[in-house]
Amino acid sequence: MADSLFPLPPALMLTLIFAFTLLASLVLKFWLSSRQIRHVAQHRDQVPPAFAGTVSLAAHQKAADYTITKARLGLLDMALGGAVLLGWTLLGGLSALNLALLDWLGGGMVQQVALLAAFVLISGLIDMPLTLYQTFVIEERFGFNKMTFKLWLADLIKSSLVGAVIGLPIVALILWMMGAAGTVWWLWAWGVWMGLNLLLLTIYPTFIAPLFNKFAPLEDETLKARVTALMQRCGFAAKGLFVMDGSKRSAHANAYFTGFGAAKRVVFYDTLLSKLSAGEVDAVLAHELGHFKHKHIIKRIVSQFALSLLGFALLGWLATQVWFYTGLGVQPNLKAPNDALALLLFMLAIPVFSFFIAPVMAQFSRKHEFEADAYAIAQTSGKDLSTALLKLYEDNASTLTPDPVYVKFYYSHPPASERLAKMVA
Ligand SMILES: [Zn+2]
Repeated sequence: MADSLFPLPPALMLTLIFAFTLLASLVLKFWLSSRQIRHVAQHRDQVPPAFAGTVSLAAHQKAADYTITKARLGLLDMALGGAVLLGWTLLGGLSALNLALLDWLGGGMVQQVALLAAFVLISGLIDMPLTLYQTFVIEERFGFNKMTFKLWLADLIKSSLVGAVIGLPIVALILWMMGAAGTVWWLWAWGVWMGLNLLLLTIYPTFIAPLFNKFAPLEDETLKARVTALMQRCGFAAKGLFVMDGSKRSAHANAYFTGFGAAKRVVFYDTLLSKLSAGEVDAVLAHELGHFKHKHIIKRIVSQFALSLLGFALLGWLATQVWFYTGLGVQPNLKAPNDALALLLFMLAIPVFSFFIAPVMAQFSRKHEFEADAYAIAQTSGKDLSTALLKLYEDNASTLTPDPVYVKFYYSHPPASERLAKMVA
């Protein structure tokens, strides 16, 4: 027996750290969800005093039931996700898929692209039963689903085609750079990745979104005049005001902005316009404009750029370490490039670790929501914003009594009670 304090081999270290972190994250997720389920169930029988005059007991209970049902499905999803992740990594699934494709296609670019495509396909198939259940059983039961199976299938085919047309060349380009651009390939790949992201952001509203929904110019002249006046007051030029047929798929309502610079395209879901008064639509729009005024969108994009630079640099280093592969259950290829394997392992392993910084991200997001609310109140009316929010919370069956710890971890938007408290004051 030599020195018993001799450190473990790096591959074994990685296996242990990965397995422990995965277990810890699953335990934490289960604990948070069961807290949420318990808290919502305990408050199911009474509308919180602050909402007593505005929310009916029936609506409150529907929100509680919807939240609990979704959280229960979430538990199943987490367990499945953990098992699938273990299957891909430590249990050797990815390694087996890689070897099978090597046998079939030999070791080249085609095999690498095929590995990524097969991974996406298999993952999609594994997720499909739960996605179907979510849409056609849960959303259906609560009256939100407007989608037929035919439309669901058409969406799936279209989004797979769009994904393949856009995704495959990008993937091939990045794999090529990994092989051909030397040790700083990750810097080049990051640059290309960022450029493509900006391009997609630009072409999405005009070229991709219309493949899935119809966008008609806003016809309502009174609302049009009101919205245009609001945008002028806030220093924006509306490039176009559109109504989207969101009701084709879901009863959930929404509105969004797209575009760069001062010229913005505003998209209202038809479901939103049918539920809110003109003043309320104005207030919701002002909230979105608040995100632009406070530069939240730019901040988000810049922080994503910085994080992805960090990610690419880390991947650049890890991809050259043998223990990175063997520690995560994959036998690296000796005579063929390992770039696709490195990409996949990285995408599988990183979320296990990054889950623990989720509360920090959520905290920033909730702060931004408060700032956007304050802007909307200053530009329009606090009363309109609060009635609009209440309608949206009710229509989406969002619970008014979430568990405070769950909120800290997951909520990108502050709970209704906190937002409304700032509007009445
Ligand atoms: Zn917002």
